Amino acid sequence: LQSCAEMARARAHRDGAMRYRFYAPDLDAEAKSRLALQSELRTAFANSEFRLEFQPILDGWSLEICGFEALVRWHHPQRGRLLPDAFIHELEPLGLIEALDKWVIEQACLAARNWQRADHEPLTVAVNVSAHSFQRREFAAMIDAILERTGLRAACLEIEIIESIALEHPERAALSIDRLREIGVRVMLDDFGTGFSSLKHLRQLPFDGLKIDHSFVVDVLIDPRDAAIVRAMLALAHSLGLEVVAEGIETAAQLAWFQAAGCDRLQGFHFHRSMEQQAVIELLQLHPPVATPPVAQDIVL
Ligand code: C2E
Ligand code: CA
Ligand code: CA
Repeated sequence: LQSCAEMARARAHRDGAMRYRFYAPDLDAEAKSRLALQSELRTAFANSEFRLEFQPILDGWSLEICGFEALVRWHHPQRGRLLPDAFIHELEPLGLIEALDKWVIEQACLAARNWQRADHEPLTVAVNVSAHSFQRREFAAMIDAILERTGLRAACLEIEIIESIALEHPERAALSIDRLREIGVRVMLDDFGTGFSSLKHLRQLPFDGLKIDHSFVVDVLIDPRDAAIVRAMLALAHSLGLEVVAEGIETAAQLAWFQAAGCDRLQGFHFHRSMEQQAVIELLQLHPPVATPPVAQDIVL
């Protein structure tokens, strides 16, 4: 009974705050596969099965590549290349999330040190950091040490955090952001608009910019209400002096809309998917011709 109750509790916890779940037999199978995943994750670290890929981020005006977002993948010996949604949530209960975050930041900084654009404009690397790591008192000091070790300029590093981080402990989040800004590292609020109190966070915490979640990007051309919300987000962010990145741009029409709306940076499959370091170097060497920016007055916002 106790173990069944524990399975139901764990499931309720994963489903989000303030939930309850009854035990059902399917939770047994789920618990078994989670256990297997957890033991595989422990060895994944030892066997260096994690790899980083980088997705280009483009300047909203010139459509030149101005940086990359680092995205972790797990090259599972049997199941192949797994996306983070399949395993990230299991790292925290195992006490491994901090180790992963540290590894990702270090690898991303090492990679970015070797990037060079033909016109020598500096390229940034954005790294996703878990709530757990970001709230630690030593987080900024750890970043400082990694920058020192890898030789990457602080201005080339961006940390992306999601709203739940700010929600849990706003005062700790504020402390980390302040310290990072002192060092010269930028902090972006990721998945903006998906949480309950996005606006409160913008008021309370000194972010450098925000990333508009791709659920909004998809609907902007379909639903006038979404278009109105995104226009208001852009106006608000710009009036607060924040930079805006739109993520999940998949079509030429979405690109045209966000360009015309004055979005600072753009990211999505329409331009590039994530790629390994070697492909990044080749892409930067090729320096492909950029798409012609659309004429702003042709677009109805
Ligand atoms: P995110 O930070 O919102 O990352 C963007 C996600 O959107 C990536 O999925 C990317 O592949 C996907 N994406 C980019 N462009 C498009 C597009 O045009 N259309 C669609 N449909 N999707 C697009 P991915 O790599 O599966 O990452 C999922 C989430 O996992 C990330 O969401 C981030 O929250 C987390 N994550 C990824 N890498 C790391 C990491 O190194 N550390 C931590 N703590 N979390 C990570
Ligand atoms: Ca992100
Ligand atoms: Ca995001």
